Amino acid sequence: MSLRTFVRSRKVAGALAVTSVAALSAAGVVASTATANAAPGCRVSYSISNQWPGGFGANLQVTNLGDAISGGWTLEWDFAAGQSIQQGWGGVFSQSGARVSVKNPSWSPNLGTGASVAPGFNGAWNGSNPVPTSFRLNGTVCTGSVDTTTTTTTTTTTTTSTTTTTTTTGGGNPGTRVDNPYVGAGVYVNPQWSRLAAAEPGGSRIANQPTGVWLDRISAIDGNDSPTTGSMGLADHLDEAERQRAARSDGQLVFQFVVYNLPGRDCAALASNGELKADEIGKYKTDYIDKIVSIVSDAKYSKLRIVPVIEIDSLPNLVTNVSPRATATPNCDVMKANGNYVEGVSYAVGKLGAIGNVYNYIDSGHHGWIGWGDTVPEYDNFYASAKQFAAILGKNGVTKDKIHGFVTNTANYSALEEPYWTVDDLVGGRPVKENAKWVDWNDFNGELGFATAMRAELVKQGFDSSIGMLIDTSRNGWGGPNRPTGKSTATNADDYVNQSRIDRRHQKGNWCNQAGAGLGERPKAAPKPNIDAYVWIKPPGESDGSSKAIPNDEGKGFDRMCDPTYEGNVRNGNNLSGALADAPVSGHWFSAQFQELMRNAYPA
Ligand code: BGC
Repeated sequence: MSLRTFVRSRKVAGALAVTSVAALSAAGVVASTATANAAPGCRVSYSISNQWPGGFGANLQVTNLGDAISGGWTLEWDFAAGQSIQQGWGGVFSQSGARVSVKNPSWSPNLGTGASVAPGFNGAWNGSNPVPTSFRLNGTVCTGSVDTTTTTTTTTTTTTSTTTTTTTTGGGNPGTRVDNPYVGAGVYVNPQWSRLAAAEPGGSRIANQPTGVWLDRISAIDGNDSPTTGSMGLADHLDEAERQRAARSDGQLVFQFVVYNLPGRDCAALASNGELKADEIGKYKTDYIDKIVSIVSDAKYSKLRIVPVIEIDSLPNLVTNVSPRATATPNCDVMKANGNYVEGVSYAVGKLGAIGNVYNYIDSGHHGWIGWGDTVPEYDNFYASAKQFAAILGKNGVTKDKIHGFVTNTANYSALEEPYWTVDDLVGGRPVKENAKWVDWNDFNGELGFATAMRAELVKQGFDSSIGMLIDTSRNGWGGPNRPTGKSTATNADDYVNQSRIDRRHQKGNWCNQAGAGLGERPKAAPKPNIDAYVWIKPPGESDGSSKAIPNDEGKGFDRMCDPTYEGNVRNGNNLSGALADAPVSGHWFSAQFQELMRNAYPA
């Protein structure tokens, strides 16, 4: 066998989430056909994309049916029930009393014949939130047709189309799961994350992306007032999800939430330690899982496709961070010995999987942690993890039909793929896999390869051959100024890999608030064979852990992997942590990180 130092391990923080709708929204100008007309005319559609107590988001589509407009446009309407604009995008919003006006962004004054713009906003409401009934574009009432008389007509208008009214088409067939729940469906946009994102400068460009809802403690089920989890509980989210579903013409929506509250949580690190002590498995079952199950199984949610992401990092920690490995931690040894991770995960999977419209996906780490397969047990993370997952089969009612798939890279930063090199590239006559420190014998250099191989191994270990994979791409974009643009010509393996790789971390074991990271692929259904979706489980902007000790009542500790001055430990090969400074406690809003992720987004 080949010599190697030690096999790394490591972690992620945990997260959940989302979608199949791609694309940044913003003020896209949508070309369309239309005939030129020497007269004004316009059509406006206004749809409420999500609504929660006190707040809502809306999107407009404004089409110029008349002559081309070149000197700037202004759209106006009156709110009928005291609603107010809070943040807008795709135009410059202002409001005076009931009257709202939206002016063109300065860089985009033109609106050709047949062209559309799509401004949107988040607003506040109270009591009722009726859709405005009349809109004017540069003073002309938008009737949906061209006004060929003169400018004076102000007859009545029927302008709006709204998606707030419930369409009763579609709907799932509880009990009949589809192969890939993300295909032909939207994904839930969490209004609470959306609002935080939209409040950041430039954040409205991504505020309508679906992200995971994390149930990271028992009180999150009812809703609490944490800065991120916010006041919405699970039933509030499901009500809102059902509303988003009914508003879609396809009538299909995936609701993604993260089950993340095991006893002795995050045994290899400190930043996401939880509220339940290592032996509190009884409480986990009755106060947490049973409670979630009783809400999720309500018939009023039976048309949703419900995707729980189960217990980030837990089972692989039992493989890589236990004795006799150098990477062992006392807490992981305890969780292995007491069996409560296996007990808790199997209980959650068994109970949730018994609900007909639930699609369980179990967390399976990422390539920078689990990507080492070997016949020597102490060097093998890959095969041993697949076996560890299979150990839940048969426990607590877990049958293979209750597991729809696995998710990789949750809350981690591993790239989907390295565009410029492979681990088998030869430098100095040897594959870089063997002699570049960055690779250190890992079999993979990205999540697509890892997820595909892990899926095949899981099927060998007894999971259903139809399982699919999700990949969390919320923070693995690695764009920005430091992204290489091609393969290095260096003749030394380390230089070759370090100059060619897009993943700019100091080391793949680094997991906390990574400097230089960017948003990755937008959530997308079925992007590759056997990959059910790219999802944003970890909500961009939520911290992985505090950069110094911060007292809190969530059980969260201070992990020096989140301290930018820390020089590392055995689990990251004693490298600098690469974390951003001044981070708050895990799960709390971290504006600087959100800004950095947008700056370094890839795709841009
Ligand atoms: C934290 C959770 C949080 C989640 C999503 C985890 O690291 O421990 O509290 O909900 O990240 O941001």
